[in-house]
Amino acid sequence: MKPKALKLFIFSAAIVCLTSFTVNRQTASTAKNAVLTENHTHSTLHGRECPNCKGNGRIQIDCSFCDNGNRECQLCYGKCEIRCTYCQGGGSFRCNSCAGRGYFGEEECSNCKGSGEIQCESCKGTKITPCPSCGASGLVACLSCGGKGYTDWKCPECDGSGVVDDD
Ligand SMILES: [Zn+2]
Ligand SMILES: [Zn+2]
Ligand SMILES: [Zn+2]
Ligand SMILES: [Zn+2]
Ligand SMILES: [Zn+2]
Repeated sequence: MKPKALKLFIFSAAIVCLTSFTVNRQTASTAKNAVLTENHTHSTLHGRECPNCKGNGRIQIDCSFCDNGNRECQLCYGKCEIRCTYCQGGGSFRCNSCAGRGYFGEEECSNCKGSGEIQCESCKGTKITPCPSCGASGLVACLSCGGKGYTDWKCPECDGSGVVDDD
């Protein structure tokens, strides 16, 4: 072979190589698709409805963190009310006018009417306030299941297809 011809040969060989590589890749991906389609057709034709999910392909599992999607409020522990945050549960404040003494000498403090204390405006002296976290219901939506009470999973028996093999 002459050097020039050899060069040409190598060049064309490279082209062939490159082309066949591309073709191979295409064939491979087409073949893969064909296998997938075949499998699907196969199970539809010869399979039966998956008893585990009743053909839905999805199963619902009760959420183990809650009861019907609700969880006990962790701020009030289901009591629906919390200690008043304004008076810190004291129900009243020391009167500022008389510094808690209630009287100026013989004269009763008009601000606290002699008691030396001012009732908490926020809780009206009850020392408690409706729980702001749960809206005084004692319950909050479960974060684990989004308040649904269950979680949705792909059926492991049929891998989500809803169909299992007959045999
Ligand atoms: Zn299933
Ligand atoms: Zn006072
Ligand atoms: Zn209060
Ligand atoms: Zn609460
Ligand atoms: Zn839950």
